[in-house]
Amino acid sequence: MNKILEVENLVFKYEKESDVNQLNGVSFSVQKGEWLSIIGKNGSGKSTTARLIDGLFEEFEGTVKIDGESLTAENVWQLRQKIGMVFQNPDNQFVGATVEDDVAFGMENQGIPRDEMLKRVDEALLAVNMLDFKTREPARLSGGQKQRVAVAGIIALRPEIIILDESTSMLDPTGRAEIMRVIHDIKEKYHLTVLSITHDLDEAASSDRVLVMRAGEIIKEAAPAELFATSENMVELGLDVPFSSNLMKDLRANGFDLPQKYLSETELVELLA
Ligand code: ADP
Repeated sequence: MNKILEVENLVFKYEKESDVNQLNGVSFSVQKGEWLSIIGKNGSGKSTTARLIDGLFEEFEGTVKIDGESLTAENVWQLRQKIGMVFQNPDNQFVGATVEDDVAFGMENQGIPRDEMLKRVDEALLAVNMLDFKTREPARLSGGQKQRVAVAGIIALRPEIIILDESTSMLDPTGRAEIMRVIHDIKEKYHLTVLSITHDLDEAASSDRVLVMRAGEIIKEAAPAELFATSENMVELGLDVPFSSNLMKDLRANGFDLPQKYLSETELVELLA
């Protein structure tokens, strides 16, 4: 089996003096070509794990291996090139005056020759269905379109792993569907591995494997079919269930009267009692 990412026993705290760790022995691995989702309550350590993998912190215990190579202070810039991060707020990811400038930005920083850059801009925009928007102003695009441009900028850099850090959480359902379709397409086209931190349980349900985090630890690792088999499982894992999810649809179909919002763990427990 070809492991593109291996994380072993990560222990990390933001404040040196504190006796509380934000990550408390996190271990998992991702196969090349796999789509792995990480879910869990706010503050459980999902983003911190992603930032550590992306080489943003120098001091931590444990190892992060990317493509078989351990991340160190010396090789961080080289290994980071294998990773593309897509963040939550598309507005914070824009730097260019036009869509094409924006997609080119990362390549300019890497000193990629102009001809190659222009070729990759077109190819990446085509892959995310945004080629017609090449000369547009990023600020005028919809949330979903902005995220697709951000993804284009990343795939133009030819990463091996895409990390989505709540990348769809600020989008409306249309934008969310657009970006998910694009990620699925480019994953196949470029043989990418996807690590997705998400609140969207339907998105997690369409991935290959799901990790659940709580208080800086991985408390469950399972295929989505097993994890989402029963609401009791989800309650036990402390997951919030979104109203639009298929799970909620199932509950509604079974006669449960559900509110028009996210259902918290406590609410779900009360409902099922
Ligand atoms: P998640 O992504 O699961 O919501 P995070 O990784 O963002 O969780 O946060 C894990 C813990 O680390 C939380 O308790 C959070 O308050 C804390 N934390 C996150 N970022 C920082 C930071 N920059 N400085 C100090 N503590 C932080």
